[in-house]
Amino acid sequence: MSLSPSLFSVGLTFQCPQCNFTVIKNGSWFQVVSHYKCEGCGREIRITYPDKIAIFQKHAYLATPPRGPLRRSPRPSSERGPAARSAAG
Ligand SMILES: [Zn+2]
Repeated sequence: MSLSPSLFSVGLTFQCPQCNFTVIKNGSWFQVVSHYKCEGCGREIRITYPDKIAIFQKHAYLATPPRGPLRRSPRPSSERGPAARSAAG
């Protein structure tokens, strides 16, 4: 079991077990953090590896899959070549 890198740039929410203050950090933050100071109660909150796994699994649906059966509406790609200005005037 590992932490999915696809969530590293996604905002994940974690609730303080002491005061339920919700903190929102990127997955990359959760990956490296081991403890943090809660802004709600000011306590030092430990985040263990199993906690991280749970957090990532909880937000797994936010991960952007590299490929998938889900069809997405194609982006309106505005093709713009190099702006060639005609000096002719
Ligand atoms: Zn707290």
